[in-house]
Amino acid sequence: MIINATDLLGPSHTTDRPSAVTAFNVITLEHAEAIAAAAEAEGLPVILQLSQNAIAFHRRPEAIAAAMAAVAATSSAPVVLHLDHITDPDLALRTKDLGFSSVMYDGAELDYAANVATTRRVSGWAHDNGIWVEAELGEIGGKDGAHAPGVRTDPAEAAQFARDTGVDSLAVAVGSSHAMTTRSASVDIDLVERIAASVDVPLVLHGSSGVPDGDLAAAARAGMRKINIGTALNIAFTGAVRDWLNENDGVDPRKYIRPGRDAMTETCRHFMRVLK
Ligand SMILES: [Zn+2]
Repeated sequence: MIINATDLLGPSHTTDRPSAVTAFNVITLEHAEAIAAAAEAEGLPVILQLSQNAIAFHRRPEAIAAAMAAVAATSSAPVVLHLDHITDPDLALRTKDLGFSSVMYDGAELDYAANVATTRRVSGWAHDNGIWVEAELGEIGGKDGAHAPGVRTDPAEAAQFARDTGVDSLAVAVGSSHAMTTRSASVDIDLVERIAASVDVPLVLHGSSGVPDGDLAAAARAGMRKINIGTALNIAFTGAVRDWLNENDGVDPRKYIRPGRDAMTETCRHFMRVLK
């Protein structure tokens, strides 16, 4: 069933939730199916998220967004639909039209004043339309596949940014990095605690595929409320597809996409159990 982000992440949430909610990035229909299957198997709510990069892959958002909404609506698990890393404010303003209840506006590449101004504009619109808004402060590394640049979010600046923009949740830079294919990132747990103590809204960890299980659980205990996972699903999917193709002949995509989808479900279930 589709639920609103507020019902899962908000201060007066109406949905039972684990210590931190998992949010998985969807690229294909099979990603959405795999994630929903994992949530059903674990008996937990989940967030399906669609990034601007994934929308660019599909060329336009309508078809993949509708597919995600249909997977969510027909699932027995509570599912939130979220737009992720939206750098185009005009696309953020389409969140409601696409059937989503939550958007991350990503102004991390802007300077601080421009990030505040644009995020505030998006969050003003969103709140007029019942949409949850996440923003980011302190660029989280790895968008170019590079090493984490060592950027860290300052707790006082994060508190000020949340107040100035009126966002509902905040992604912060605490040591994780996007697109890591090894689980070797080290999260600054002490910094998570200090940010959580000074910021009034739920915190979001990006780049979680590269974070070891122990650090993920510790980050959740320290105050991370939403854990974003993308690359780990693609590692699972591509590995299973490659194994099938190496061992078998055949051209029917169902033969190799099925094990790929099953592998993604197992990966989702693993992260859900770590963060329960
Ligand atoms: Zn991210």
